[in-house]
Amino acid sequence: MADRLIRGITVDGFVQVCAVECTGMVERARQIHGTLPLATAALGRTLAACSMMGSMLKSDEGSLTIQVRGGGPLGAITAVADAQGNTRGYLQNPAVSLPLRPDGKLDVGGGVGREGLLTVIKDIGAGEPFSGKVQLRSGEIAEDIAGYYAESEQIPTVCALGVLVDRDQSVKAAGGYLVQLLPGASDALIGRLEQSFQTLPSLTSLLSQGLDIQQVMERALEGLGFEVLSSQPVAYECKCSREKVERALLSMGKQELEQLIAAGEPAHVTCQFCDAEYVFEVEELKKLLEKAKGV
Ligand code: ZN
Repeated sequence: MADRLIRGITVDGFVQVCAVECTGMVERARQIHGTLPLATAALGRTLAACSMMGSMLKSDEGSLTIQVRGGGPLGAITAVADAQGNTRGYLQNPAVSLPLRPDGKLDVGGGVGREGLLTVIKDIGAGEPFSGKVQLRSGEIAEDIAGYYAESEQIPTVCALGVLVDRDQSVKAAGGYLVQLLPGASDALIGRLEQSFQTLPSLTSLLSQGLDIQQVMERALEGLGFEVLSSQPVAYECKCSREKVERALLSMGKQELEQLIAAGEPAHVTCQFCDAEYVFEVEELKKLLEKAKGV
């Protein structure tokens, strides 16, 4: 099933939904970063959340960044999405593994850590980016994202994020959903939703049974009349380019450039998101230094 992001609403207008199936996106991240299963799950959950939250930006030119710093052995996680939900990301220590939890699941909370912050940065391409920070609750990511919405945006949110890793360590299924209550929702509706989500099988088990993301949400919101408003493809997508790397080198300043030139070797710059390597010969570095001096 190709990666797809959907947005929708229930007929009464009180429940808004964003959901993504992103197995290909998370598998691509695994291949680029060589993540072991624990890191695949932690990064994959963050990518799924970021893709959905990016797609909810109100500007087509915007981007949304999620940073998770929980103090655990996996280190910091960073994901960036565009307003269409295309996402990239990395984490500090892709080769960390921990014993499985007693219930047989990957210990994502233990890997991420619980002592730290989840930061969301929304850049709509104009003015100062908005930044919201909340304390991590469990390090399991989904609960932390729900906490972000409750604290930072005052929107009651049910969040599920899942990554199912296959025996060969490839990604078997990955996805997520954000179900949000809009102002005016009744207590009865809230109770009904809570019950529905408590009895719903995990997202990755439904996806790996062959349901697509729309069918999953129809099942989750059965009886509420779920209508899909938009559906779009999403992918792992890096936006790096030689021009952007040049700008980054320029922004390091003259001294740093002079040091690189003095080293007498080509400079190799690797993109953290996609592992693309950009090589700058000494002559090119000298040209950049001239530019830096001209500013
Ligand atoms: Zn890149």
